[in-house]
Amino acid sequence: MTLEKYRQKRDFRVSPEPRGTKAKSKARSLLYVIQKHRASRLHYDFRLEYNGALLSWAIPKGPSLDPSVKRLAMQVEDHPVEYGNFEGVIPEGEYGGGTVMLWDRGTWVPEVSDVDQALQTGDLKFTLKGKKLHGSWALVRTRGFGSSKNPSWLLIKHRDQFASKKDITLEMPKSASTGRLLKQIASAGGGDVDKAASGDPSTPARPRKNKRGRRLT
Ligand code: MN
Repeated sequence: MTLEKYRQKRDFRVSPEPRGTKAKSKARSLLYVIQKHRASRLHYDFRLEYNGALLSWAIPKGPSLDPSVKRLAMQVEDHPVEYGNFEGVIPEGEYGGGTVMLWDRGTWVPEVSDVDQALQTGDLKFTLKGKKLHGSWALVRTRGFGSSKNPSWLLIKHRDQFASKKDITLEMPKSASTGRLLKQIASAGGGDVDKAASGDPSTPARPRKNKRGRRLT
């Protein structure tokens, strides 16, 4: 694992993203995080801590709780573990310029005895213990997708009590860390608010009201 690629792509004098320090090996739970990222395109960055770094996949449509739905996950460069705390604005013009939300955060537990081998084979099974995502999942590597150099995988929910037909990305669009929408994060961080807002679920044309006429939020 190395953060070389991660660092090459970024200018840490300009971007507030962490540079990453040397990996510390402490006996504790492994971090799991999903960052919703309104960059040139909206995507969800899925990250699993392993060997002192965050293994990372970019998922254009985000996770699905429906076991019959497979979501494309492009593997990207490892990120520093501290990246799992980052929510804010990457300046426009920088690599990944746009707004980043801590969409989900928690821990993960491998369901395989040998993670290295599972990564090599391209079939990693694991349990997520997040604020939004729970239960058993798999990342399965597929043959190349389009012209991309990045290895493509599929993120798939296993059938268990947490499987569902509901669209978690629409039903729970706010930060698991601060409760903010993308537009609020952009606004607080001096980012492009309109661009960020285009990644939030569209607001209804008129305010939805309950039976007592109270506005629903
Ligand atoms: Mn990203």
